[in-house]
Amino acid sequence: MPDRIVTATAVDGSFSVVAGITTELVADMQRRLELAPTASAAVGRLLTGAALLGASLKGKEKLTLQIAGDGPLRGIVADVQLNTPDEIGARGYARRPDVDVPLNERGKFDVGGAVGKGFLQVTRSFEVGQPYVGIVELQTGEIGDDIASYLMTSEQIPSVVALGVLANPQGIKASGGVIAQVLPGADEATIRTLEERARAMPPVTTQIDAGATLEDLVTAIAGPLEVRYTRDYALVFTCTCSRERVERALLGLGRDELEKMLREQERTEAVCEFCKTAYVLSHDEVLALIERLEARS
Ligand SMILES: [Zn+2]
Repeated sequence: MPDRIVTATAVDGSFSVVAGITTELVADMQRRLELAPTASAAVGRLLTGAALLGASLKGKEKLTLQIAGDGPLRGIVADVQLNTPDEIGARGYARRPDVDVPLNERGKFDVGGAVGKGFLQVTRSFEVGQPYVGIVELQTGEIGDDIASYLMTSEQIPSVVALGVLANPQGIKASGGVIAQVLPGADEATIRTLEERARAMPPVTTQIDAGATLEDLVTAIAGPLEVRYTRDYALVFTCTCSRERVERALLGLGRDELEKMLREQERTEAVCEFCKTAYVLSHDEVLALIERLEARS
């Protein structure tokens, strides 16, 4: 079943919900990056969170979530954009894709242990003007809690965030999430009600694995209150790397560094961290880059 994301609003205007099934995307990333189980759970949760927040993007805006921690994973990144008004493109990576740690005492992936203490940085890039950057200290490193903390601290939106990745030795079995946000002017009890429902419902991945639809996920958090569905997106892996971007990055290293490359290696290889595409530049191509730098100066 292809991945999808839907948004809905309570008819009384008290909260909105975005729900997503991200199993295909996370399975794709797991295979591409050869992520170990704990690393795949961490990247999968961050990707799912980013994809859900991606439903708030407009036009050419972009959103990047970066976690830097002192645990063995060191860092994970996810970013999203709108490929079309109805399609969200996402990608992600882990600095240490081979990290695997024992399950925690509840028999779940110890994502918090693998991430450690650190920070979540969220960057929203707009079509024009400076990007907005919000940074929060990690609460638990479990990612869902950390995104909720970011939404509360940086965007002043009380939210409930539930993200999950279910994996077995064969790969990713189910992945998805729900974010419910209190809308301006809503009753103060709204967030408590949403939190109680989130605690009472089975984990998102248990629901998806049992065949739940996105609408079932929305209903599980919305409860008896009627909701109106507002948007429906396809979700696909999208990498924006290109040879041109690689050349620009190499140019940014400067003349000395490029000349050192020429002396030390026959050819220069740059591998995209997100999709693993390898870009190879011959001796002459690196030389041409140096000439471009000279022409500029
Ligand atoms: Zn790429």
